[in-house]
Amino acid sequence: MKLGDATIDRAFEQSFPVSVLSLTTDEALIERRAGTLPPGFLDRKSNAFAFTSQSWIVQVDGLVVLVDPCTGNGRHLGQAPVFDDLDTPYLDRLGVRPERVDVVFSTHLHHDHCGWNVRRDGGRWVPTFPNASYLFVDAEYERWASTDHPNTFSPNVFGQCVRPVVDAGLATVVSPPHRVSPSLTIEPAPGHTLGHAVLRLESDGTTAYFTGDAFHHPLQFTDPGLHLPGCDDLARAIETRAALVDRVRRESAFVFPAHFPAPHYGRLGLDGDEVCFLPGETGLLQSR
Ligand SMILES: [Zn+2]
Repeated sequence: MKLGDATIDRAFEQSFPVSVLSLTTDEALIERRAGTLPPGFLDRKSNAFAFTSQSWIVQVDGLVVLVDPCTGNGRHLGQAPVFDDLDTPYLDRLGVRPERVDVVFSTHLHHDHCGWNVRRDGGRWVPTFPNASYLFVDAEYERWASTDHPNTFSPNVFGQCVRPVVDAGLATVVSPPHRVSPSLTIEPAPGHTLGHAVLRLESDGTTAYFTGDAFHHPLQFTDPGLHLPGCDDLARAIETRAALVDRVRRESAFVFPAHFPAPHYGRLGLDGDEVCFLPGETGLLQSR
């Protein structure tokens, strides 16, 4: 799709069911805010939504920017089987050759957001995007470089997905807010992980946020207190989520989360006094 002068594409990796009841058991809320959305957001039979792993490719200011490069092939984490030993045509779905990617940005360093940083070459992990500048947020880089963090989700991610990039001289550690180009800024959005950040696009009067895991499901727009397990700092994650909801609404911005099913992005509106998700282009039409 086009947003201002930017072109935004999506690369799909995989999708699997996650129970919406792990966010809330409030059936009326689920029906009201998820039951009215496209089917991927709520399967009534199983109460599951289609947790989707995808990357966003933003082309603007003469750059090809890859956001959140998924889990990757041939990696065995031994933590959640759904992420183990993948063999997907992700790179074919990117729509650009790896050599053409100029910037790689991970909203955070969970394994499903930086796995394709590297690919296996013989017995070694080497950078998948040999001409890219890989941007790491300082607080996030330090959190994962340390081996003594109590939250052990995504083991060995630094050694496998970050270290080879550093060793190849392709890594830049940045302190947000960090301007990537005239239209793109990395902004802090901590909590899900300590250095979690979002990418803000502003182009020709249109604004969009690539929000990583600040939101896993639209129910969290309505109630920012709802969450899946695994946050580094839950109280901060909730605070960040509430602040993002306010900003996105104030700026009539698009959100491009990392894990939403089709149509994968949208805007926010109000239904009475309740914040609701307007999937796809709906928000654009309603805001006119
Ligand atoms: Zn994730």
